[in-house]
Amino acid sequence: MEFKTAEYAREQIRTVAARWDAVYGPRFDFQIVGPGDSRSISEALHSFDPETASADDVAVVIGNGSWVEMPMCLECKTATTDAAGFGDEDIGVAWCCAQCMRRALRKLAGDRRRKTPNV
Ligand SMILES: [Zn+2]
Repeated sequence: MEFKTAEYAREQIRTVAARWDAVYGPRFDFQIVGPGDSRSISEALHSFDPETASADDVAVVIGNGSWVEMPMCLECKTATTDAAGFGDEDIGVAWCCAQCMRRALRKLAGDRRRKTPNV
């Protein structure tokens, strides 16, 4: 089982400017990329406080959410920062968020209580 937490997202935000520059510059003058050119996007990414910027902040600047990837819960179809992944890369990883796992555990605990005979 593998886990992804808010720290996983934060680490991607901390490194996004450097990862962007490795692909698009800033030594290259500019390329038109998404909503802006590569240099202005680089400058915007470097201007973020990496400890407070959100994944949405990054997505707005770049024009898509692919640079800060969050696991998608297969149950509620929500991108989440707190998820457990079941399976592996060979068969595929199924992500489940903490909220859906808590709901499943409450349901399982309730079913177990109902099966206990009354004495
Ligand atoms: Zn979920």
